[in-house]
Amino acid sequence: MGYEVAGMKVAVIKETSPGERRVALVPEAIARLSPAGIDVLVQSGAGDGAWLSDAAYADAGASIVSAAEIYRTADVILTVTRPPTTAVPELRQGQAVVGMLAPLADPGFAAELAARGVTVISLDGLPRTLSRAQPMDALTSQSNVAGYKAVLVGAGEFGRFFPLLITAAGTARPAKVLVLGTGVAGLQAIGTARRLGAVVSGYDIRPTSKEEVTSLGATFIELTSVGSAAGEGGYARELTADERQAQQEELTGHIGRHDVVITTAQVPGRRPPLLVTEDAIKAMAPGSVVVDMGASALGGNVAGSVPGETVITGNGVTIVGAENLAATVPVAASNAYSRNLSALLLHLTRDGALAIDTSDEIQAGVVIAHDGRVVHEGVASLLEPAQLHPGEGGPGVDGPSD
Ligand code: NAD
Repeated sequence: MGYEVAGMKVAVIKETSPGERRVALVPEAIARLSPAGIDVLVQSGAGDGAWLSDAAYADAGASIVSAAEIYRTADVILTVTRPPTTAVPELRQGQAVVGMLAPLADPGFAAELAARGVTVISLDGLPRTLSRAQPMDALTSQSNVAGYKAVLVGAGEFGRFFPLLITAAGTARPAKVLVLGTGVAGLQAIGTARRLGAVVSGYDIRPTSKEEVTSLGATFIELTSVGSAAGEGGYARELTADERQAQQEELTGHIGRHDVVITTAQVPGRRPPLLVTEDAIKAMAPGSVVVDMGASALGGNVAGSVPGETVITGNGVTIVGAENLAATVPVAASNAYSRNLSALLLHLTRDGALAIDTSDEIQAGVVIAHDGRVVHEGVASLLEPAQLHPGEGGPGVDGPSD
């Protein structure tokens, strides 16, 4: 392609998952990366979904190349989600893939790349409470975007106003919005719904979130039938069957009194908890809206939600199975993700090369596979012995990189 690169070649591929419009790096990142000896290659069209042209990347100093050239020459491949399955055979020993690769949800994919000698680095594993890791926290930045969009989706489906409006044609009462799960996405949803003028309530199983909810001007709902389920690292633990039933029954009364319900509840490594049951949906008035941010193939927070679809129940409740909302705000989401990824890349780079060192707390969280092995304990614990030690009679291995 007629370009000269001396440093580490870091390449941005075009995302291929359905509906994925984000891009791993935006042009402004390039000036921050080049002083560290990082040369950026961008697959032609990679920024299209976020309105970023090849020319914008080239003007910022990137080389615009084909996918084939990336897989042949890049040292590091940057992605938002997983690289396309068809690209896996192209990946080679000593290359690194950095993205939100969800290795806990699909440890086999990490093992497959490890067996090819590919270093796997996933932003999902970042130790989020570590203050020096915060600029790299893509889970937070993308949850923020998603929480904001969830409110706009809910408002779009709702047949009335969110704010109190007093006009010559009559007075509209403000919408009552309930946010279930008040982590990063939930707090952003509360703030956004408040800015639109709704009367907002929030609920979480972690009692510490009460202060955050009330500081945003929302009411915190406390349940009498179920106590705290604060787990490790600021996350929630999974509820017992009895706790779950008590929570669902008590929440039903609250849900029925709201116009719009947004659910964001997640428990790491588990299927999302069911918070809005069929009975709760029946208790809602016609025209009410439920946005299920937990909707996934594993099931969601809401009975009857279908990932990627909007369904209307027999009693006139609209249920939105909101999947990957961050991808639907591609410019803001890509800008934030690009910042997170650049910060991580600079942290990992020494003298123009990746310096993998899992004694560093950040690296211990994000480095999933290196030197032909799955090195991340949490991911390794989910694998079969043959996947962990593929060189010992497992599927095709190229052997460890140096
Ligand atoms: P998450 O996406 O894992 O879950 C979303 C919310 O769902 C959480 O608040 C969780 O408590 C809640 N939830 C789970 N099960 C529930 C149930 N049965 N009923 C009601 N609510 C339920 O969480 P997240 O948004 O990634 O944030 C998790 C925690 O990490 C929060 O405490 C957040 O403040 C913290 N955090 C800290 C930092 C930091 O220190 N820099 C950064 C990011 C997140």
